[in-house]
Amino acid sequence: MLKDRDRVFTNIYGQGDIGLKGARRRGDWDKTKELIEKGRDWIIEEVKHSGLRGRGGAGFGTGMKWSFMPKKPGRRPHYLVVNADEGEPGTCKDREILRREPHKVVEGALLSAFAIGANTAYIYVRGEYCREAEALRRAIGEAHDAGLIGKDACGSGWQFDFHIHRGGGAYVCGEESGLLESLEGRKGQPRMKPPFPANIGLYGCPTTVNNVESITVVPTILRRGADWFAGLGRPNNTGTKLFCISGHVNNPCTVEDQMSIPLRELIDKHCGGVRGGWKNLKAVIPGGSSVPMIPKSVCDTVLMDFDSLKEAGAGLGTAAVIVMDQSTDVIRGIARLSRFYQHESCGQCTPCREGTGWMARMMARLAEGRASVEEIDLLEEVTRQVEGHTICALGDAAAWPIQGLIRHFRPEIEQRIADYQAAQSERAA
Ligand code: SF4
Repeated sequence: MLKDRDRVFTNIYGQGDIGLKGARRRGDWDKTKELIEKGRDWIIEEVKHSGLRGRGGAGFGTGMKWSFMPKKPGRRPHYLVVNADEGEPGTCKDREILRREPHKVVEGALLSAFAIGANTAYIYVRGEYCREAEALRRAIGEAHDAGLIGKDACGSGWQFDFHIHRGGGAYVCGEESGLLESLEGRKGQPRMKPPFPANIGLYGCPTTVNNVESITVVPTILRRGADWFAGLGRPNNTGTKLFCISGHVNNPCTVEDQMSIPLRELIDKHCGGVRGGWKNLKAVIPGGSSVPMIPKSVCDTVLMDFDSLKEAGAGLGTAAVIVMDQSTDVIRGIARLSRFYQHESCGQCTPCREGTGWMARMMARLAEGRASVEEIDLLEEVTRQVEGHTICALGDAAAWPIQGLIRHFRPEIEQRIADYQAAQSERAA
């Protein structure tokens, strides 16, 4: 269990002052100048050594990602872009950081930008997050007035400007290259890769895109040391993590705990357990709507980290845990998600544009049972044709929930079809 002294987010429930005074009392902006003076290489090495993996879903090493940026800025400026688009259904962790710990975001952005040689950072905030953007704007203003950012950030001689950009509400703008397109004022359609943003990103310049939570933990890692962070969780899955738990639990919440906490412990300890008790659990989507669900038998033992969930055929994703008890119609639930992904497809690539529509229509029929058993295999085949054959990961995100459903709940789908056919025969008779 995570000890209070190991928490990174000490005001995540908003009980303290979110302004600069309150943030300073909690330890933010403490010796930031000294951290900058240790240099870019030291910061990147510390973050690498801490084992921090990106908190936006992909789980790529943050320090490693930074090291892909050119060592010295050339004629093209470097940019840091903070992804606060948070559109993944079930996910509500960055929102809490933005509105309750905005100074951590500003300080994290400064140190991260310095590490990659960027004097300018943009934060792309989901359009619906009005209050969060307001809180952040206030924090940026306070930091400016106090000389913590601006021409001479914290008196270090480093110039740093931080700008807020509000998104328009498209899910696909959470994909880093779609986000960059949108930031440049175009339609948020993901780009073909390579080139990767570290080479050609925002305005054609070297860019790193990091999730809000990823950059926000950086100041604490640098202050407390990489060993401290690496000592939490287990190897390759280190540190603390914000989990957002929703659905059929007694107390849905967003909570910080150690990486690799058992799923059952997470739900029992922080959410008051599953509605009706653990035996009433049917399935869990462990990492936001785009990862495959896992049935209760897997939930009994699985750990909440990248590797354990991957072994279980799911993924940590954004650590948005959606709990479903026995009353849940899982087929209808996944049909609803399929409709969501069809709606959010940007339409650039054929497997996604056409495939998400096929999958949504087939799932709608399966939810009613208005299909044949053979069509389950056909649907699975369609998901395989979409998965891995698209420009961005939205195609995978649309395919994986259906694959998880078929893998674990095929008998329930077949029963639904049989019930529908029996009802039809009865009506005909
Ligand atoms: Fe657009 Fe879908 Fe292709 Fe992504 S996978 S680029 S959302 S059509």
